[in-house]
Amino acid sequence: MAAFPERKSEERKHKNIPNDSGASQGQWGRAWEVDWFSLASVLFLLTFSPLIVYYFIMSCDQYHCSLTDPIIDVLMGNSHLSDIWNKTPSLSWKSANIYICWVTFQVMLYILVPDFCHKFLPGYVGGVQEGALTPAGTVNKYEINGLQAWIITHALWFANAYYFHWFSPAIIFDNWIPLLWCANILGYAVSTFAMIKSYLFPSNPNDCKFTGNLFYDYMMGIEFNPRIGKWFDFKLFFNGRPGIVAWTLINLSYAAKQQELYGQVTNSMILVNVLQGIYVLDFFWNEAWYLKTIDICHDHFGWYLGWGDCVWLPYLYTLQGLYLVYHPVQLSTANAVGILLLGLVGYYIFRMTNHQKDLFRRTDGNCKIWGKKPEYIECSYTSVDGTKYYSKLMISGFWGVARHFNYTGDLMGSLAYCLTCGFEHILPYFYIIYMTILLTHRCIRDEHRCSSKYGKDWKRYTTTVPYRLIPGVF
Ligand code: NDP
Repeated sequence: MAAFPERKSEERKHKNIPNDSGASQGQWGRAWEVDWFSLASVLFLLTFSPLIVYYFIMSCDQYHCSLTDPIIDVLMGNSHLSDIWNKTPSLSWKSANIYICWVTFQVMLYILVPDFCHKFLPGYVGGVQEGALTPAGTVNKYEINGLQAWIITHALWFANAYYFHWFSPAIIFDNWIPLLWCANILGYAVSTFAMIKSYLFPSNPNDCKFTGNLFYDYMMGIEFNPRIGKWFDFKLFFNGRPGIVAWTLINLSYAAKQQELYGQVTNSMILVNVLQGIYVLDFFWNEAWYLKTIDICHDHFGWYLGWGDCVWLPYLYTLQGLYLVYHPVQLSTANAVGILLLGLVGYYIFRMTNHQKDLFRRTDGNCKIWGKKPEYIECSYTSVDGTKYYSKLMISGFWGVARHFNYTGDLMGSLAYCLTCGFEHILPYFYIIYMTILLTHRCIRDEHRCSSKYGKDWKRYTTTVPYRLIPGVF
């Protein structure tokens, strides 16, 4: 197993302390060797993920968002798979043009417009920022301008909807399935390109991981931070722009469709737009912080991120809004307020937990958490060259409540989005089911990594804070 290379800047200042024999060894990022279970999971996901997305969207289009009716229909012989396929809208020139314009516009905003938001928004960190140290010892620079891209894109969207009328604000909904084919083409193209690039012209050859298994490498990625030129970073662009900027636009398009079909926008649709809008804006407000999260710090860029950002995220994270176009739910005031509160409390926990760790790590523990100096566990780990480093694991604030309370807040928010849709169908609940699996898996993945990294110090931490997500339960 590879040992941990040095990591964040606050840890680097402890350099040159001699190694000791009890140094913890661990694995950085994704695996070097592929076991049969990982390979089976990869093959399963590569085969079934595109089908799952298609199935959900087709169910809404042809079966009013029922996930069971298509299966029953086919099993009862009322319909053949070919009938369902023949009723599915195919790729059109119109959708291809929309998609090309959309992606080109986002690329231009990303590479051609340096950030100006940080110049007038107090507290916002934008412009050129440094990422975390990569396993090979590189610190990449990023142009953080996602908030600006989001603002410009949405300003143009509203200007069109209320003033210019160049296109219908429901354009995304109206072309949703043809756009799915375009998103798939881009998702596969960028993942395949990333794979070829890692063999032929990697941005940093020392940060590539080859397992020798083609499927695993394609899915989990080989290059750590593929780039074109100095600034076009695949991870930052694909996660943020076609994925997350699109999220709120897609929801707005659903709201416009409700207005067009029913002459009003329901309170449930407004709630989905507001709660997910807060989440998206939070992401862009904290885009510089995002550079230090697992996605950027540990994951390599392959199909998992490339296709996932182009297809999985925009299509499956927005299912509540899509469902509400077919089933406009008007919530009672009490239910609407209850859901709003759940969403806001979840968001508060999510944000404050992330903020507490960020503040703690930035100030090396010289800060106040809940009005007091934070308590922590001193821990150490060893880099590949045998140098010993020190770090701290906080046990105060939300980090003393559970080891991943940020995920708990995230899950509360996710549940709130789903509850806006009532209880008639399971489809809008996909998000909370998926997020529960994703974040539980992430807990285990992260803890495996931390345990390899910190060894006995991590054990002390898990004894002090025994639960992962819900105190007393898990
Ligand atoms: P975290 O922000 O929780 O970071 C985990 C890392 O923090 C660990 O690897 C460890 O790193 C450090 N750490 C762990 N415990 C402590 C502690 N007690 N004190 C100080 N540092 C600690 O994980 P993510 O990057 O996964 O998540 C970031 C956010 O993104 C979360 O809020 C999550 O909910 C959200 N998210 C949302 C997704 C979505 O699709 N909507 C998907 C994934 C995440 P080190 O090695 O530095 O010690």
